[in-house]
Amino acid sequence: MEYYSRQISKLIQELSSLPGIGTKSAQRLAFHILNMPTEQVEALSAAIVDAKRNVCYCRECFTLTDEELCPICRDASRNHRLIMVVENTRDLAAYEKTAKYEGVYHVLHGAISPMLGIGPNDIRLKELMQRLQQEVEEVIIATNSSLEGETTAMYISKLIKPTGIKVTRIASGVPVGGDLEYIDEVTLLRALEGRTEL
Ligand code: ZN
Repeated sequence: MEYYSRQISKLIQELSSLPGIGTKSAQRLAFHILNMPTEQVEALSAAIVDAKRNVCYCRECFTLTDEELCPICRDASRNHRLIMVVENTRDLAAYEKTAKYEGVYHVLHGAISPMLGIGPNDIRLKELMQRLQQEVEEVIIATNSSLEGETTAMYISKLIKPTGIKVTRIASGVPVGGDLEYIDEVTLLRALEGRTEL
């Protein structure tokens, strides 16, 4: 049975397809949106469409950006010989928030997970190895401390070792299974400073 008109139902259905949004939240959001001034709704939908159309991968570090090279890779004052490997752009943002890391990043967009059928070729690993042909002093592996994150860290370190480039892993102390983006800046800095060679 349909409780709402077709277009309201459609809006609720679209919203509920988002992660973490159940039917109840979707209904609440839908009615909130319908009560918003038209200009505000247009600004919201334009922001979604613009972001989707214009955001692409940085050709160097593969973070999400709206330029060919992201601001971090473009910044000549950063240490381009120090590469921190993270799982996603949100993790990169978490480290950037500390404002203490001076190197650059490499965003994998995922982690190896045999359970989910995600292999080394499904993340941006090949691209990382290509970057290592330039002059690189150290690769800091800052994948999450989940099973997938640890598996990925081990895999990457085995891959890099033969090149002679120093490979380090951020210190544990980052809660197991904890997403880096939810960890406070002090803990992140401590994990970075306490990194150990693999
Ligand atoms: Zn970049």
